[in-house]
This record gives sequence, structure tokens and C-alpha cells, in this order.
Amino acid sequence: MPDIIVIGGGMAGVSAAAALAADAEVLLLEAEPGTGQHSTARSAAIFIRNYGNAALRALNDRAAGFFEAPDIDVEAPLLTPRGELLLATGEELDLLEEYAAGSAGLERLSAVEAERMVPILKPGHFAGAVLEPEARDIDVDAMLQGFLRQFRARGGQLRCKAPVSALSREAGLWQIVAGGETHAAPVVVNAAGAWAGEIARMAGAQPIPIQPCRRSAAVLPAPEGHELGLWPLFGSIAETWYAKPMGGQLMVSPADADPVPPQDAWPDDMVLAEGLYRYEGAVTVPVTRMVSSWAGLRSFAPDKTPVCGFDSEAEGFFWLAGQGGHGIQTAPALAELTAALVAGRAASIDDGSLGALSPVRFA
Ligand SMILES: Cc1cc2nc3c(=O)[nH]c(=O)nc-3n(C[C@H](O)[C@H](O)[C@H](O)COP(=O)(O)OP(=O)(O)OC[C@H]3O[C@@H](n4cnc5c(N)ncnc54)[C@H](O)[C@@H]3O)c2cc1C
Repeated sequence: MPDIIVIGGGMAGVSAAAALAADAEVLLLEAEPGTGQHSTARSAAIFIRNYGNAALRALNDRAAGFFEAPDIDVEAPLLTPRGELLLATGEELDLLEEYAAGSAGLERLSAVEAERMVPILKPGHFAGAVLEPEARDIDVDAMLQGFLRQFRARGGQLRCKAPVSALSREAGLWQIVAGGETHAAPVVVNAAGAWAGEIARMAGAQPIPIQPCRRSAAVLPAPEGHELGLWPLFGSIAETWYAKPMGGQLMVSPADADPVPPQDAWPDDMVLAEGLYRYEGAVTVPVTRMVSSWAGLRSFAPDKTPVCGFDSEAEGFFWLAGQGGHGIQTAPALAELTAALVAGRAASIDDGSLGALSPVRFA
């Protein structure tokens, strides 16, 4: 019998399962035929140190050490240089000031400097910009595969095509029905991403509303005559669109956040069209063709802060949910925290952040 069952084989569940497997027998259950098929496969794959509130930034700081020297088996660095350029029109300068005031390691750029960096920006459209030069691309697949290898090397067991359909607590053990089998363990980790609320309901845990929100992306051909390789991710400080070079093409996101039920997400044509219209308003190159598109879910607790810790009502039920738009970059830190809290060890994060992440804040 395993000591711990982790539900959900996305970045959260796989990284946590790998960390937990250092001290315990761990079984990882994934509904799909393979790992990492939902939000984890659909991210913008960037690490931004200044992204998120104080608790998230504490996790970003903690994760930065992992990314610099990963303790998983990977062939190449997980991070490569990119940079993030946030742009403000005259009316948005207050937002830029607010962002800069709470951030570290930013460089202020004039509109002309920003236009030099991304030469398709409409001259005169923006009034100011900030650059986070240390923002980096993440090799998400290499990271996931590295955690999976570590999990297996530590004796972890993975069951795919094992959708959890019932959880009950009997004699100090969770009985978990998944894909025709019943598994038992004293501790269960809820890392089911957009489905985390459903898992909690099945278990009779705290009713923390984890709301999935759709975010879409369109892939455009590189603007003719431009080499995108060195361009940063660039976007509106008001989060109305952003664009990022990806494999020689340009990914443009409408930065949408429409609440939807948990599902295999797909993009809405109208949302994409409206987002591309906002992007077109800021650049000199019209959008003539879309190569492909996708959508994924970013799932949030009401206060937009991840939920990591034991449930206040259901014994042995651990939350690892609500990572929103930060679930790749914070995964190493949340996995480490999960392993520490489940084992009853001191957490390597400050008490304020620990409280901000705890599910007990909703009790
Ligand atoms: C467009 C977009 C851009 C993003 N950009 C970034 C970024 O640049 N940087 C960043 O850090 N983050 C980014 N994110 C966020 C990031 O992708 C997510 O936070 C992260 O992938 C969440 O991982 P997860 O493991 O919690 O969820 P998922 O990857 O969705 O995994 C959850 C898993 O649980 C499984 N599951 C669900 N229910 C059950 C069940 N009953 N039984 C068994 N298994 C079940 C699912 O099949 C799924 O595989 C972005 C997200 C989107 C959509």
C-alpha cells in the first residue's frame, strides 16, 4: 500500500510526487493516457520573477534556485534568455509605475528604446516601458520529463487512464476509486488542476472554489523581414494582450481569463479575434494569417493565491491547487513545500507566505 496517493499528472502533481517519493511510497493517478496533457501542455512557458503577489513572489524566489541548478536529470538548462517588456500608453503610465514600485530587477525604457527592441511596435503608440531582462523561457517538457524520471528512480508508481471517481475515508485511510481499481493510502494530494474543486467535493473537504479560467493563444507567422530570436515577450501593462516568439513564430494571447467549467479547453474564435485586434492596434504589421491556436485553463482560488497544505476538515487530504498562471514556474517550490508539510518538516518559506498559501485561510 502506498503512503501517499497524488491525483493529477500535470506539472504540479508530477513534481510533488517526485519530491514526496524521496521519503515515501507514492502512487500517482492521472485520468488521461499520458502526463502533462492539460494546462501543463498549454502554457506560455516563461519564468517571470516579478509575476504575482507577495506569496507567489516568495515561491518564484524559491524556485529560481532550482532552475539555476535543477536536481533532476536534464540534458540542457531548463531556462534560456528571453526578457519581458511591459508597455504602457500615456493613460496606462500609472499602472506601469505601480508595477515598477513593487518589483525588483526591472529596467525602465523610453518608448523609443522599446520600439528599437521590438521594431514592429507602432511609433508613438506607447509612452513608456519596463524590461525584466532576467525573465527566461522554460523548457516545460524537459522539466516534466526530468521530474518523471526522478519520480520513477525513487520507486514512484504512475497509473494513467485512472480517472478518480470516488474518495472516502475509512479507518484512517483514503479509499480511492480510479479507472476500475480501488487504492488506499493515509494521505491524498489533490493536484487535479482545473478539477481540484471536484476532487475536494468528492472527498468532503473544504469547499474552496477553484475556478478555471480560459486563456487562449494564436500562433502567427513571423512578421515578414524580422528575425524574432532576440525579441522579448512583449505586452500591454494593462494585460489586454501579449506576444512571445516561439519556434520562429509569434504567439499572441488575448490575455483572456473567462471563467469556464473544468474541461479540455479550446479557443473561442471571437475571443481570439478581439485579442488580435488589440494587438494589431499596437503594431505596424497587420495580422493576415493564423498558423494555429490553443487554449488552456488557469485555475484560481478566490484570492488568486495557490492553495498548498492540509485541509482543515478532511483528515489526510492535502491541497496543491489554484496555481493560476504561475503553475510551471512555481512547481519546484510548491513541490518542495508539499513534501515538507506532508512529512511534518519545517517549510523553507517564510511564515507569512505559508499562511497565505494554507487552505486554512478559507476555513
Ligand atoms: C495560455 C497559458 C499560459 C500560461 N503561461 C504560463 C507561464 O508562462 N508560466 C507559468 O508558470 N505558468 C503558466 N501557465 C499556468 C500553468 O500552465 C498552470 O498553472 C499549470 O500547468 C498547472 O499545472 P497542474 O498540474 O496544476 O494542472 P494540469 O496540467 O491541468 O494537470 C492536472 C491534471 O489532473 C488530471 N486530473 C483531473 N481530474 C482528475 C481525476 N479525477 N483523476 C485523475 N486525474 C485527474 C488532469 O487530467 C490533468 O492532467 C499558463 C497557462 C495557460 C493556460
